[in-house]
Amino acid sequence: MKVHNFSAGPCILPQEVLKQAAASTIELDNIGLSLIEISHRSKEFVAVMDKAIALVKELLEVPEGYSVLFLQGGASLEFLMVPYNLMKEGGKAAYLETGTWAKNAIKEAKLLGETTVVASSADKNFNYIPKGYTIPSDVDYFHCTSNNTIFGTQMKSFPETDGMLVCDMSSDIFSKKVDVSKFDLIYAGAQKNMGPAGTTLVIVKDEILGKTGRTIPTMLDYQTHIKKESMFNTPPVFPIYVSMLTLEWLKKNGGVEWIQGINEQKAALMYGEIDRNPLFKGTVEVEDRSNMNACFLLTDESLEEEFNQMWAAAGISGIKGHRSVGGYRASMYNALPLESVQALVDVMQELEKKHA
Ligand SMILES: *Cc1c(COP(=O)(O)O)cnc(C)c1O
Repeated sequence: MKVHNFSAGPCILPQEVLKQAAASTIELDNIGLSLIEISHRSKEFVAVMDKAIALVKELLEVPEGYSVLFLQGGASLEFLMVPYNLMKEGGKAAYLETGTWAKNAIKEAKLLGETTVVASSADKNFNYIPKGYTIPSDVDYFHCTSNNTIFGTQMKSFPETDGMLVCDMSSDIFSKKVDVSKFDLIYAGAQKNMGPAGTTLVIVKDEILGKTGRTIPTMLDYQTHIKKESMFNTPPVFPIYVSMLTLEWLKKNGGVEWIQGINEQKAALMYGEIDRNPLFKGTVEVEDRSNMNACFLLTDESLEEEFNQMWAAAGISGIKGHRSVGGYRASMYNALPLESVQALVDVMQELEKKHA
């Protein structure tokens, strides 16, 4: 049976990418060796790294003056690397608190200096994006999370700031067009929209680095990795390779603009049904709804067991909500086809018919 994979992360990847990754794990490009048993400094792997970086630059139209890195430690290590590299000794940072991941980022920044939360949606269990806040003019940088994977909210615009603009785009990178030139630093764990867990994409404006006056541990210093082209130490060759394949898949099909159109269709279909069907309700303010993660509840909780059996029988996987929200979360990342959303909508309509 076909499984409709709505997992929030690690998440669905294109079938053709998985097949190529499997084949290359046995033998890479007819060289008689596996991708994962050759030197990362071999010409074959250097070509993979170069291609992955070139595809990021091309697909996101990264301007001159930015470096693209593939690091380790997940987005969670970026929570610490960002303040280490951007917050001056005795400096300040401002954060927007829109969910669990933002809170984790704030916690790390506080280890290194004065960290202001300019606005928070904690008062309503993070079901909206705060607006109309002011970013102090004396902060080194402002940090936000573009898509809140757990609570299902997404920023539709980004604020102007005098300082640097930093964004955790882990769960919506490559899902829609973004003007990289407006940002000083973007980071994203690979496992939501790009590849398997194990590598983190960082896009950083070169001129902002080396200005804090801090001593930065070698591995936490972006300049280390820029100088060594993400090969200061052994890079995670498998996740980088699979990310490269996913980006090739994206490019071949029409790039970010193409996937944005499909992602908008999927979200319209999903939220259309949540709003239309009297048995369901969304948990998030309509204007802040995420096109990646749709969170919703049953209006009558006594139908839970029945609904759970129905979607499982239809081959739907991974829609249980995060424990901090409850209910359901349908994650609709790039590789999830429209027909999978249709399969879920069909089950929701079937449930409605039974209880009409
Ligand atoms: C998943 C996620 C993270 C955590 O990523 P790791 O790679 O597991 O550290 C951080 N931020 C956002 C927005 C996420 O969705």
